[in-house]
Amino acid sequence: MNLFDDVETLKGVGSKTAEILSKCGIRTVRDFFYNLPRDYESYERPISIAEIRPGKVVVKGKISEISTRRARKRNLSITEGVVSDKTGSIKVVWFNQSYRVRQFAPDKEYYFTGNYELKNGRYSLISPSAALVSDIDTKSGLNPIYVAHGALKSRDFKRLVGNLRDKFALIPDLLPTVEPGKRKKSLFSVHFPSSPESVEEARRYLAYEELFELILAAKLNKRENEKLKAEPITFRLETVKEFLGSLPFELTGAQKKAAWEIFQDMEKETPMNRLLQGDVGSGKTMVAALAAYSATLSGCQVALLAPTAILAAQHYENLKTLLEPFKITVALLTGATRDKVNLKENIKNGKINLVIGTHALLTDDTEFSRLSLVIIDEQHRFGVEQRQKLALKSPQGLAPHLLAMTATPIPRSLQLTVFGDLDVSILNQLPRGRQPIKTTILPEIEMKERLYPKISEVVIRRNQVYWVCKAIDDNSRAETVSVKTRAAKLKQIFPKQRIEFLHGRMKQAEKDDIMKRFSGGKIDILVSTTVVEVGVDVPNACLMVIENAESYGLAQIHQLRGRVGRGSVASFCYLLTSGEMQPSRRLRELEKSSDGFHLAEVDLKLRGPGEIYGALQHGALDLRIASLSDTKLIHRVQVDVERFLQDPNNMLKYTELMQGITKYQQLTTLN
Ligand code: ADP
Ligand code: MG
Repeated sequence: MNLFDDVETLKGVGSKTAEILSKCGIRTVRDFFYNLPRDYESYERPISIAEIRPGKVVVKGKISEISTRRARKRNLSITEGVVSDKTGSIKVVWFNQSYRVRQFAPDKEYYFTGNYELKNGRYSLISPSAALVSDIDTKSGLNPIYVAHGALKSRDFKRLVGNLRDKFALIPDLLPTVEPGKRKKSLFSVHFPSSPESVEEARRYLAYEELFELILAAKLNKRENEKLKAEPITFRLETVKEFLGSLPFELTGAQKKAAWEIFQDMEKETPMNRLLQGDVGSGKTMVAALAAYSATLSGCQVALLAPTAILAAQHYENLKTLLEPFKITVALLTGATRDKVNLKENIKNGKINLVIGTHALLTDDTEFSRLSLVIIDEQHRFGVEQRQKLALKSPQGLAPHLLAMTATPIPRSLQLTVFGDLDVSILNQLPRGRQPIKTTILPEIEMKERLYPKISEVVIRRNQVYWVCKAIDDNSRAETVSVKTRAAKLKQIFPKQRIEFLHGRMKQAEKDDIMKRFSGGKIDILVSTTVVEVGVDVPNACLMVIENAESYGLAQIHQLRGRVGRGSVASFCYLLTSGEMQPSRRLRELEKSSDGFHLAEVDLKLRGPGEIYGALQHGALDLRIASLSDTKLIHRVQVDVERFLQDPNNMLKYTELMQGITKYQQLTTLN
């Protein structure tokens, strides 16, 4: 058995199963071993039905009268049955799990684990998981639960892993360890649990190995980056000072420090690989402008990549105003750009010094004469390949200096691991005169009394409002109000105000026009989808309303909210909820704090790193074990990785390790 063999070589895995597995990322034997149970159910103490109480329960019994029906609401099927033991019977209900009808044999006993609760007027066991009593290892009473994938349910994974029971012994050590065999022992323990303690210990060890891979990848990236060559960019203090003198404001201390770090990086022959982290509104664009200015002074070209056309257009306007007086030619390249051929010619022959654009910048026919600095705004919105495409446009043999900017602060633990190879500058200071944004969670039914008066107040003072909706179109099924409908409703309530809507499916020219008029103060209330989420900067807007707030993630709301609070007037954010339930922890944290760094830590705790960065980076960082908040362990691993790297033989010896970390290496490297 080779760990990198195709899963199809495993016992019990046919081509059909292999196909499903492959769809969920399980392609090799190794992936299969590392498809760890999501949780365990304990069957130690099933409760007799006569004694059942509301809450989480385990019941041991037989099931009868099972049937499925369609609910009135489309897309919902309800499967019901009756579970009985010697002491009584209860109803069970599953939603959208019609396969349950065929799952059970009427004469066999099962464990049912789920919540016993009041639903539609009667107590039932809601969506329990079920396991055949004879399948459960009675010694530990622990049953591993795997995430279901397509037709493969948890019990199928259990069966397949069961087929491999004697194969675990063949798993070699991944890395040098004081306890040889610990890896196979740990993997065995998580799939075949003998006690909660043994599972815990095994998971701790696997977390250690996982962190080891991450940190090793980051350290190797750093080494590899150091081998690349970039064009050194001379820092001209006097000229930069002159430029600073032309600004209407003074840089914040944090901006000065970041700019200084960047200038120093760019003077080197090794490419800069720097992440500029700054909370929303901290003035990252200004720092980027300084870097771009400095590079163009040396005759170098600069590319700035933005995730949306709206944002690219805005950067273009800002940077043009700032830089053109200094004889720097600035151009915008997006999908909607008209004379692309001519523009690309001028980029290629070097007439354009700074080009700002979207994905349109990445096409093969966009060539540069001397691209030496690449700036990526909201870097987490781009995949690795996209970032690398741009990096490859530098002259032969050279890599560009790279400045990545993000407003989603990376928690310290992730910085130590995943992003360990990046140099980081932090803007932890907002420009002077900013006022905090007051955030309020508001049930929709209170809109009239509490929100409308606020809107009136704001528009009378000629300040502006953003109103964010979930949907573009109306949809009879959904409970969300579309941008169009919301704009129409607001028009009835505020007939004198100029109200318009904006969404991603509109034509680019139309979007640009609306944004331009909004930023020119010609629109009072802008009803929009989340297209305004990133980067948009209209300092005169001071009220942000987010409808269906519960449906957004913490970081996303923080970003959206960051569209206000950019000027000197007091700003407000209303998070509208249906009011049916208590507001989530997420919303309450947002109400309490507007510190992006604090919120990022909270988010990491609430959701785990894979969710935050995994989703944003196209699933690339799928950590199996959320252990990244364990800074003590991280430090221990760092020491061990250093020791590992000191012996060059290790890299040759532990080939599986080296092979496995390439995906992590790609994840963070910028060059
Ligand atoms: P972000 O970090 O969210 O990208 P921006 O770069 O869009 O922030 O800057 C937010 C606003 O703050 C812009 O209007 C910008 O002109 C302004 N700004 C940037 N730096 C300063 C400063 N040092 N003093 C005052 N205003 C500043
Ligand atoms: Mg920005």
